[in-house]
Amino acid sequence: MAKPVLLTVDDDREVLRAIERDLRRKYGSDYRVLRAGSGQEALEIVRELKIRNNSIALFLIDQRMPGMSGVEFLAQAITLFPDAKRVLLTAYADTDAAIAAINETGINHYLLKPWDPPEENLYPVLDELLEDWEAAFPPQFEGIRVLGNRWSPVSHNIKDFLARNHVPYQWLDIETVASDSDVRSLVELLDEEETRSLPIVILPNGVRLRQPSLADLAEHAGLRTRATEAFYDLAIVGGGPAGLAAAVYGASEGLRTVMIEREAPGGQAGMSSRIENYLGFPSGLTGADLARRAVVQARRFGVEIISAEATEVRIDGPYRLLKLANGAELSCHALLVATGVQWRKLDAPGVERLTGAGIYYGAAMTEAMSTKGEDVYVVGGANSAGQAAMHFSRYARRVVMLVRGSSLAASMSQYLINQLKATPNIQIEYNTSVVEAHGEDHLEAISIHCAKTNEVNKVSANSLFIMIGAAPNTDWLANIVERDERGFIYSGPQLTREGKRPNGWKLDREPGLLETNVPGIFVVGDVRHGSVKRVASGVGEGSVAISFVHQYLSKVV
Ligand SMILES: Cc1cc2nc3c(=O)[nH]c(=O)nc-3n(C[C@H](O)[C@H](O)[C@H](O)COP(=O)(O)OP(=O)(O)OC[C@H]3O[C@@H](n4cnc5c(N)ncnc54)[C@H](O)[C@@H]3O)c2cc1C
Repeated sequence: MAKPVLLTVDDDREVLRAIERDLRRKYGSDYRVLRAGSGQEALEIVRELKIRNNSIALFLIDQRMPGMSGVEFLAQAITLFPDAKRVLLTAYADTDAAIAAINETGINHYLLKPWDPPEENLYPVLDELLEDWEAAFPPQFEGIRVLGNRWSPVSHNIKDFLARNHVPYQWLDIETVASDSDVRSLVELLDEEETRSLPIVILPNGVRLRQPSLADLAEHAGLRTRATEAFYDLAIVGGGPAGLAAAVYGASEGLRTVMIEREAPGGQAGMSSRIENYLGFPSGLTGADLARRAVVQARRFGVEIISAEATEVRIDGPYRLLKLANGAELSCHALLVATGVQWRKLDAPGVERLTGAGIYYGAAMTEAMSTKGEDVYVVGGANSAGQAAMHFSRYARRVVMLVRGSSLAASMSQYLINQLKATPNIQIEYNTSVVEAHGEDHLEAISIHCAKTNEVNKVSANSLFIMIGAAPNTDWLANIVERDERGFIYSGPQLTREGKRPNGWKLDREPGLLETNVPGIFVVGDVRHGSVKRVASGVGEGSVAISFVHQYLSKVV
């Protein structure tokens, strides 16, 4: 946490240096001592500290300064830091002004210059004031702050990215400017241009990013975006359960391992509000918790985790070279593809335009709080949709599940069906699908088609969460590995057809169980053709793959 500030202002440079020295000597270990040579300069500092959400514990201000007196400065400064203690430094001749200021600007004390010895004339007064300040002052949030609009897709992506990467942040919704004093004072301090191009991300060091890309945000939020080494034994693309398990096993068994994840470790599982069927967690655990634990475990074994997107693979003899979207390149001997699947898009008018502005793919946990007291619509009939409905039912007034089929039995686990039926504010509408989304700058209504009656009903809706299946995103690997018509990657025995090994396969062995048609490139988890799409099976495949990686490496190096 940044130390609270003691700000001292004096136009006499000698006096300023002396007071700063005395303050640092006594309070430097607990407070940051800042100084300014004029009221104007000090106000700049005060504004900047407010934007960064730092706290000021004490103003120690000279009264007689050209341009702006100490009292005039304090009158402005305390509007931003009303809880800061205020001490005026005066010459004997100014004591009347100081006494008057006690009423005007709530001066806590005035000190006569010179204050020597400080042990007698300065510290006892300040000790008492700072003790009072500490006792009354709630700690400020000092991490990243995001000022944006609830209905802005960019704001949503930023919140989602930070939350899923476990980067603490404070969300400030511009729509609450009238009712939230934090939002109001921040808006007043920013330039007009900045408030026009929201969202703006304010970093603890004062840097402000306007509508940053996720790659930019990752860089500034302290996530690693480039590899520290040029070569690794094992590179894993994708940080879902399968990739994380491979990372933990690979590194724990001595492989120099790097894992590249473009959004946040945890993958789809990280979006799950409660995984109830993962071995060893009888009362379930959230996907975010599982991801956090796995990341800690991976880091403990020395896995390097990079926040970037892999965009290209090249083969150069025994080396597999991986290119990242940020332009960086790294090479490895064994490459493991664990890129999972991404949500299938709902093809209906208005949906694409309003995605991120009331319409979300997946459970979008960061939006749950904003649905408080509202009606929420969830499209889909699989476990993911069921879990999302359960999760939102804790916040929303009513959750309506729109299911295309006439039952959930074939697509959802029975335990979830039972939970949904036992939750009074969840309503399941069978044989329904969303055919249009309406709204100007955010979702205001949806049109629902009922296959049984063939009727279309338009209902008001502010939140629509879509979970209608998923597809792999493997086009960047199209010329390298063999894939099925939907993009899932073939492995092991799937590659041997009519007794023939895959095209170009030169080794005198069959491809290993989780190996692709390129020796040394492995595939695990949901992205693998024929995989069982579950957390445990992804974890199992990721762990098992490491033994094939070892076998491969023993021949290649
Ligand atoms: C909401 C929800 C609830 C679920 N609940 C359960 C449950 O209760 N029990 C259960 O067993 N299963 C559940 N599942 C399914 C389970 O989460 C998946 O089967 C599992 O996450 C698959 O793991 P994976 O590692 O193969 O892929 P994913 O989890 O999909 O992870 C793949 C990762 O790769 C990253 N990536 C993709 N392309 C690139 C690239 N080019 N460069 C870098 N990174 C890339 C993605 O960002 C992603 O993080 C649920 C799924 C969802 C969506």
